Amino acid sequence: MSARKIVQVALPVRLRRLFDYRADDLERLPADGARVLVPLQKRKVVGIVCGRRESSALPLAKLRRVIRVLDDVPLLPKELFRLLNWAARYYHHPLGDVMQTALPVLLRRDRSAQPKPVYHWRICEAGRQGLDSIPGRYRAQRRVLDLLAAADGTGLPAGTLSSEVANAATVLARLEAQGWAEKVTPVPPATAGTREKPLILNQAQQAACTALDAAAGCYTPFLLDGVTGSGKTEVYLDCVARTVSRGRQALVLVPEISLTPQLIARFQARLGGSLAVLHSGLTDTERHRAWWRAREGSAAVVLGTRSAVFAPLARPGVIVVDEEHDLSYKQREGFRYHARDIAVKRAQLAEVPVILGSATPSLESMANALSGRYRHLRLKSRAGSAKMPRVKILDLNRLAVNDGLSAPIVGAIGDCISRGQQSLVFVNRRGFAPVVVCTQCGWQALCRRCDARQTLHRRSGRVICHHCGSQAAAPIECPKCQTQTLFPAGEGTQRVEEALVRIFPKARVIRLDSDVAGPPEEITRVLQAVREREVDILVGTQMLSKGHDFAGVTLVCVLSADQGLYSLDFRGPERLFQQLAQVSGRAGRRESPGAVLVQTAHPESPAFSRLEKHDFAGFAGDALMERQAAGYPPYVRFALLRAESTRSGAPLTFLRSAALAGRAVPSREGVEIMTPVPSPMERRAGRYRAQLLVRSKDESRFHRFLEDWVLGIEESTEAARVRWSIDVDPQEMY
Ligand code: ADP
Ligand code: ZN
Ligand code: ZN
Repeated sequence: MSARKIVQVALPVRLRRLFDYRADDLERLPADGARVLVPLQKRKVVGIVCGRRESSALPLAKLRRVIRVLDDVPLLPKELFRLLNWAARYYHHPLGDVMQTALPVLLRRDRSAQPKPVYHWRICEAGRQGLDSIPGRYRAQRRVLDLLAAADGTGLPAGTLSSEVANAATVLARLEAQGWAEKVTPVPPATAGTREKPLILNQAQQAACTALDAAAGCYTPFLLDGVTGSGKTEVYLDCVARTVSRGRQALVLVPEISLTPQLIARFQARLGGSLAVLHSGLTDTERHRAWWRAREGSAAVVLGTRSAVFAPLARPGVIVVDEEHDLSYKQREGFRYHARDIAVKRAQLAEVPVILGSATPSLESMANALSGRYRHLRLKSRAGSAKMPRVKILDLNRLAVNDGLSAPIVGAIGDCISRGQQSLVFVNRRGFAPVVVCTQCGWQALCRRCDARQTLHRRSGRVICHHCGSQAAAPIECPKCQTQTLFPAGEGTQRVEEALVRIFPKARVIRLDSDVAGPPEEITRVLQAVREREVDILVGTQMLSKGHDFAGVTLVCVLSADQGLYSLDFRGPERLFQQLAQVSGRAGRRESPGAVLVQTAHPESPAFSRLEKHDFAGFAGDALMERQAAGYPPYVRFALLRAESTRSGAPLTFLRSAALAGRAVPSREGVEIMTPVPSPMERRAGRYRAQLLVRSKDESRFHRFLEDWVLGIEESTEAARVRWSIDVDPQEMY
């Protein structure tokens, strides 16, 4: 017997510490990664065991006892347990909260790790024979049996029957007792369905696959840097299929599920039913089941969004991060992790290869590829017969523009329609017009709760703030000078859509932005309509840029490329270039050549000549040199301490004292603590916001400093007066 009688438990609270509990009366000490039910003040909470010790700051008699051990086998496999510990240290976030994030909601409660088994109902031979002899008054029984008789050999889930017949459960119990129906375990479609054959890979794809194959079983990070339409997905599929055939699991991360139904369909077609999909649209039960299938290994492939990077795996074999540059991998609040970076660490701990794929890699990954830390795999041309589209820059200083559209763009869309092809029009903002201004006195419609303008949504007759969502009826006259001289300035998707309908009355125009795109099914429906050529012109926001493979789109128009060029955020140009290259990448993905038209008031910007040549590598090279000269990431580590409060002075006061405390931290050598400043948009949703940047060239020193500093802040009295958070490797500087 071990002398260790105390377990250290991570609890779902925002404190950077573990909690000690007595475990001396337990038969067996729970292992790391197992859940325990423990008392916390007057509540009972579920925590995760993170260690054992012999003594605590409190005498044993004063410690509270573990109420119950919930898992005999640790819920978190060792590799995942280690990963979460690392993540809590790296992001300086409370371990208990990190572990909560990693668990499906249902497992954060006192309930068994294994979901209830799913079974289907099937009709028995006796049931078939008895079908005709059921007396007419037993209508429910008859209906259930009819449904079961019509179903195929795998039967029907109880839920389907309940939605058709009232009291289905009672009826089924009776039928089972009679020997007319039985419960069966459903057969996963993997063994039933036929699978799609892989394409014949081209030379570049083949070379990438060979390199990936050679890395099986050891930690190797790869950057799969392939132009849009170069067949990266085929490379993932090949690698994943090989991994699965070796009996290992693949974890595949994608930016947004609703925007990638095609990718899922391709994985499903290739790999069959051994796929578990994890995303925010699942119910708690569905999520728990998918999580469990990953945990026990019955799902050969686990595909999901950001938080799926924490999916448990029984036999990890490879990790894929598709569109690795995508901002949605970064969690923007609470535990602010970056799923791509966690994926790389996870691959290292699990000793498996990791593939980061993109046509426009993040500069961080690009720098790692250039320095040799990542293996650089390149697919330089499009797969099959498609060519890269021709890009043309249109100078807004020399062109007249109506509703955002210049004559060359209108002409090109007209030509495209007459050829029976589709065009895609990319607008920065949703709504009708981003500014409502009085031409008489200069008044503008501003949000009352944010330092921002309200956007006019003309169809609903409202002005809406896109930062906090607050809205009001659109004003008819100027509230300041009472004249009816209000003018909607600038263009949003609705205005462009209306203009296109006016110019091309016969064309089928559809809009896709987050106003349209309520439920995920609606987005899927619009994307499907575009693929089936039921649409001539698709107008939308950057939602359009994400990975879609539309066969009929040959023209892409970008109405304004200037947002981002002079952004306050040092990542502005990178983001702009990525967006332009991605949206351009939707044009001409089949035999017909594609064209891209980009309107800008700054055609001289060097980024555009790179764009015309599809030279992302050249752009990245320039940008990295600038970053190095300016002392920006990836050459220097950043962390941002953010604070917000409803009281205007409070965030800066807090940050000033935090900066002062930071200067007194003994481990601060090599760390630069900047001056606290108000956020670029200081007021948002009624809260004032400020931030403090700290940076260092030395990663390990930086983390030592952050650990001491953040712990001190947490314990300070000032911290209780504001809402604060630490953001390591911030992706947005506001
Ligand atoms: P990416 O993920 O790089 O954007 P995809 O994998 O979606 O590219 O491929 C783009 C298109 O090219 C798809 O329609 C795909 O079916 C096709 N494709 C990919 N690889 C090949 C190949 N080796 N031969 C023929 N067509 C291919
Ligand atoms: Zn006015
Ligand atoms: Zn607002």
